[in-house]
Amino acid sequence: MLFKIYKQKLILVISNWRRIQLQNFTSWDKLVSYLNLPEEIRGKILKKSTFPLNLPLRLAAKAEKGILNDPIVKQFLPSLEELKPNSNFVLDPVQDAIFRKQNTRLLQKYKGRALLITTSACAMHCRYCFRKNFDYEAQNKEFSKELEIIAQDASLKEIILSGGDPLSLSDEVLQKLLSELDAISHIKRIRFHTRFPVGIPERIDESFLSLLASINKQIIFVIHVNHPKELDSDIYAAMKSIQKLGIPVLSQSVLLQGVNDSVPVLKELFENLSDHGILPYYLHKLDPVQGSAHFDVLEEEGKALMKELSTCLSGYALPKFAKEEPKKPSKTLISFF
Ligand code: SF4
Repeated sequence: MLFKIYKQKLILVISNWRRIQLQNFTSWDKLVSYLNLPEEIRGKILKKSTFPLNLPLRLAAKAEKGILNDPIVKQFLPSLEELKPNSNFVLDPVQDAIFRKQNTRLLQKYKGRALLITTSACAMHCRYCFRKNFDYEAQNKEFSKELEIIAQDASLKEIILSGGDPLSLSDEVLQKLLSELDAISHIKRIRFHTRFPVGIPERIDESFLSLLASINKQIIFVIHVNHPKELDSDIYAAMKSIQKLGIPVLSQSVLLQGVNDSVPVLKELFENLSDHGILPYYLHKLDPVQGSAHFDVLEEEGKALMKELSTCLSGYALPKFAKEEPKKPSKTLISFF
């Protein structure tokens, strides 16, 4: 695990001109005090982890105090449950490593599009992250090799900026990367996969919006959000400012036991997103990464949830229920009828 962690605070360099210091919880004892967790609960916490705690204060403030059974706490506070062995849960469940092109940070799994691992850094560390063991630091810090491969492969129409989280990059780095992609004629679309606005919506500022507006290629913005509690008016406003640029905003969620595995929670999530023009794109079955078995929801249970949701949501508000199976030509859509 090689995510970049800053002690006590996440220092986010937004531009050369200014720095925003954002408080993130990175030590369990400070978070536990903040959450007023009682003594007996503290014994359930994983105090040292190779994938360390990282939670923006803004998101922590939405958690109910005094309990572990809160959707925010469950997703971000390291738990001793992560240590329970389960041979079905492995280090690289989606086998990212075998899809790297020429040992770069460019991964290609499906025809026509490729995914660029832009950074190791995230605004937060989700305990179920399937990429938490990716060998980030062994990679180059520049994208020149990846851009060269993209420019030489006319079959690529779309580049997905992922990570880590691409919004962890400074605007200067993003500007350079986006302009270079913009200049490759066969690339038609650039897609962002990000969870950053859910923790730090201030990242969507004038500078970032101008950057997006300067790109000629169609941009598509996909935010990762799992529970209605993660959303608020600041996040909706940030997404609206992106939508006003003609950029579709979609969402993807992971089905997580004890977090969002109920019809009322998912219904509220997908309705709230749709109310703000954010169309639910995927509900993912959990990728079986080591240490996340306690989040797993059986496929049959997921299908039953989807079936019930389909009776009470408009078609555009119902995401595709899918899982990733390595070496398949596309994501596997899970039929629920
Ligand atoms: S934001 Fe995404 S990449 Fe970062 S820890 Fe969460 S799931 Fe993983």
